[in-house]
Amino acid sequence: MLIVGAGSAGCVLAERLSADPSCRVTLVEAGPGPSDPHVRAQISDGLRLPIGDASSVVRRYRTILTEDPVRETVIMRGAVVGGSGAVNGGYFCRGLPTDFDGWNVPGWAWADVLPHFLAIETDLDFTGPLHGADGAMAIRRVHRFDEGARAFIEAAQRHGYQWIDDLNGADGGRPGVGAVPLNILDGIRTGPGGAFLARAADRPNLTIVEDSSVRGVRIAGGRVRGVDCVGPAGPDYLEADRIVLSAGAIGSAQLLMLSGVGPAAMLSGLGIGVNADLPVGTRSADHPEWVLPVDWPAALGRPPLESVLTTSDGLELRSYTTGFGVMTGGPGGDPADRPHFGVTLMRPHSRGRVTLASADPDVAPIIEHRYDSVPEDVAALERGAVLARTVAGAGYEAREAVWSTSQHLCGTAPMGADDGTSVLDERCRVRGVDGLWVVDGSIMPAITSRGPHATIVMIAHRAAEFILG
Ligand SMILES: Cc1cc2nc3c(=O)[nH]c(=O)nc-3n(C[C@H](O)[C@H](O)[C@H](O)COP(=O)(O)OP(=O)(O)OC[C@H]3O[C@@H](n4cnc5c(N)ncnc54)[C@H](O)[C@@H]3O)c2cc1C
Repeated sequence: MLIVGAGSAGCVLAERLSADPSCRVTLVEAGPGPSDPHVRAQISDGLRLPIGDASSVVRRYRTILTEDPVRETVIMRGAVVGGSGAVNGGYFCRGLPTDFDGWNVPGWAWADVLPHFLAIETDLDFTGPLHGADGAMAIRRVHRFDEGARAFIEAAQRHGYQWIDDLNGADGGRPGVGAVPLNILDGIRTGPGGAFLARAADRPNLTIVEDSSVRGVRIAGGRVRGVDCVGPAGPDYLEADRIVLSAGAIGSAQLLMLSGVGPAAMLSGLGIGVNADLPVGTRSADHPEWVLPVDWPAALGRPPLESVLTTSDGLELRSYTTGFGVMTGGPGGDPADRPHFGVTLMRPHSRGRVTLASADPDVAPIIEHRYDSVPEDVAALERGAVLARTVAGAGYEAREAVWSTSQHLCGTAPMGADDGTSVLDERCRVRGVDGLWVVDGSIMPAITSRGPHATIVMIAHRAAEFILG
């Protein structure tokens, strides 16, 4: 079994599959591993996002956020063992039951996925039927907030938003304000890479190949044969009769298309032979985010995000503890680098695109978020900005909003019914290609109403059963 990409999903999958001693697993990752102390220092510091200019653990991509006017930005993905889960904000909140029931994919309803949410976590704050006690991901919430967050929480409560004790609990879907479940303990981020691979460290049937980038999957006669990759020793070919792409929403989509799996006209236009004509990258989704600087004092030495407010119309207001500069490892002291609100639309109607620009694997795909393609979404964000100004807290002001993104891109190879709209069947198998699966954020038919990370870890845990089964 060959897994491409040791990210949030790939690491969980590698641990789960290698738990069966008869399953030999090779995990190929483009980025470095944590045995390098410089890498380890960047990915374990839970008080910063290692995505600034000095980062050696991310890959950057240009994207077009909006079309009228054109607003471009740069997004990052973790390029390291642990993937984006090793560089992210540590917010680890489950999708809502209605998200999964709404996917309408057999085997993925809330009743099907809940046991996997329980199995992946150890909740250090709550016990009971909605919480796991011996999963790899240790989860905790902040209980004492800094000045800015306190002002925000008090203002939200004055405006009728109830305190929600547990955003992963029975009331987690209600509008209100609460502490974010975090996979950051005592300032240390432990993502699925660290948490799950530690459990598999001594298994002789698991091999991790670092610093090796897969260039494409060889497919012949309707089934996979192996992958071409480039590592420190140069080009290589790894033979495999079962391959799982866990290269993330951008990486897995690009690899599928480079391997002849995608929209036939686009592939033919680039001179790529078509193995399966499927809608890869045609309906991606992400959470649009407007950023509003607030004049709260910066809360240094704390996780980037500790509390959120959620509304009944799908907005999430995030009170970030510092400015982006400090948060990404900058020296601090810049008066323009303010703590800020993120006003985020969690059930957007807009859909984006990821398209191949070239048959050359070194050329990044074209990413378009198309956040302004649905006026209803823009109107909801405007309402969110008004709400942010209202709940900034007594004596504090939230300023002008700027377009941004939550960096939650997903849905580039969705599961679903065999009606031309899905790339995968309900067991994550690529339609029309034997021996090929996709397991990562690409597979979501619709984005979840909460950040996707906990859901992606759950997805890998669930999909392992299908692949082993
Ligand atoms: C800066 C940032 C902050 C975020 N904060 C949060 C948060 O706080 N909460 C939340 O819920 N979500 C957050 N997210 C989103 C979340 O982290 C991701 O959605 C999730 O980690 C994606 O998991 P994945 O397994 O789909 O892909 P990834 O974790 O991105 O893994 C893909 C892996 O595949 C590797 N790869 C790619 N192409 C190849 C190739 N050709 N050959 C070999 N290897 C390859 C990559 O190097 C990477 O390690 C954040 C994302 C970012 C970037």
